[in-house]
Amino acid sequence: MRISAPPADVRLDATFAHDVPELALPWQADEAPDPRLLVLNEPLAADLGLDPAALRSADGVRLLVGNLVPDGATPVAQAYAGHQFGGYSPQLGDGRALLLGELLDTEGRRRDLHLKGSGRTPFARGGDGLAAVGPMLREYVVSEAMHALGLPTTRSLAVVATGRGVRRETVLPGAVLARVASSHLRVGSFQLARATGDADLLRRLADHTIARHHPAAARADHPYLALFEAVVTAQASLVARWMLVGFVHGVMNTDNVTISGETIDYGPCAFLDAFDPATVFSSIDEGGRYAYGNQPAVMQWNLARFAETLLPLLHDDQEEAVELATRALGGFATAYDEAWTSGVRAKLGLRADLDTAVVRPLADDLLRLLHGDRVDLTTAFRALGRAARGDLEPARGLFLELAAFDDWVDRWRSLGPDAAVMDGVNPVYIPRNHLTEEALTAASDGDLGPFSRLLDVVTQPFDERPGLERYAAPAPDDFGHYRTFCGT
Ligand code: AMP
Ligand code: MG
Repeated sequence: MRISAPPADVRLDATFAHDVPELALPWQADEAPDPRLLVLNEPLAADLGLDPAALRSADGVRLLVGNLVPDGATPVAQAYAGHQFGGYSPQLGDGRALLLGELLDTEGRRRDLHLKGSGRTPFARGGDGLAAVGPMLREYVVSEAMHALGLPTTRSLAVVATGRGVRRETVLPGAVLARVASSHLRVGSFQLARATGDADLLRRLADHTIARHHPAAARADHPYLALFEAVVTAQASLVARWMLVGFVHGVMNTDNVTISGETIDYGPCAFLDAFDPATVFSSIDEGGRYAYGNQPAVMQWNLARFAETLLPLLHDDQEEAVELATRALGGFATAYDEAWTSGVRAKLGLRADLDTAVVRPLADDLLRLLHGDRVDLTTAFRALGRAARGDLEPARGLFLELAAFDDWVDRWRSLGPDAAVMDGVNPVYIPRNHLTEEALTAASDGDLGPFSRLLDVVTQPFDERPGLERYAAPAPDDFGHYRTFCGT
């Protein structure tokens, strides 16, 4: 058990800034005129060895907005590049964020403590460096829901209102989100390192990454190839899990793709209701590049950009290097299929030894039915859990093409689905778009009640609880098409 330190004595490391100082610009957060803690993740604080009561104190809140910098710590803005909607931006970086430092959690894992909305940095370009309360609470609730659903993700430690107004379409209350991640290394970090032409920087970045995320790669015959393979596998598995739960990331630029395999950057993300691969929520994604159904292909494209950055480390002969990278990238499809099939097998409650050649067509046929009848993905899988127990009507009532559904159910039930397995992986509660909006609207008017209730519901997503029926229901018809925004 660690003794929790007062905020000023929290020990923060800086291995990132030490190993790759070229990518770490020392910077300070803006002074928050009137910081007020809106939400604190006490279990996460405890995991980090931080004392929740100390974080709630005036000094703790100042730590959470970057105004109290612990002794020996140096906050940095991280530099990176990235492909945004397919176009390359050579110079991005944390425009409104800072890495406060790293700490070891109670299990000895290194975690970044990071702030979003802490003021302009030299990477801010035209931006104001700020964030509004609504979008930061949105990242908080969605990322914590994703964690509770079992998906790898950055976590949310706290949201603090700054007391400063943020100019958007109107003036909104400003906030800082304190975010925790196993790192903030991105494909874009490697793109910037590669673009400098500094081979030593690229190697230091890769070595830092291996030590931090994929230590087994260090012992491989070819550590940098093993690093690439590990990232391909981690991201294939992550996207498969997004697909299974109906998560649309919305802005899969290479600067928003982690090397750790954690989901990052909850900007325009949202969850599917009616199953439709063409679903897009982001207001700026006019071409549908980041539509739900495109996510696996886009991730593979992003990993190809990652591979390009590693070529100098893969082989002295660049043709050989391309061949090695291409072959490893070819593993994406297999890794994705395996992760998706094993996930859908559990969602359908099917035995682990059942042949993929049976599971895949069955699952694909179900998705075709869901798409054709515009059925809510989450409701459908949960209702199938009841169907596995013999109560067919809740599922049957969701479909229009009843004959096709009945045929499908007969095929599926003949395989003996296990309802308990299904209920352990098919959530009842996800942060449905209309519920999230409702909670954020109330929070912006000063009422955090709906937000706290929603957070409580979605962080126990598999336990059906009486009285929470409205949290399980799809959006009312008049909710209309949901639109989300970047840089909010
Ligand atoms: P995102 O699409 O949220 O990943 O943001 C892309 C880039 O824009 C990152 O470098 C961000 O730091 C930067 N950015 C987004 N919003 C702002 C803002 N309000 N002020 C400054 N920089 C921003
Ligand atoms: Mg980003």
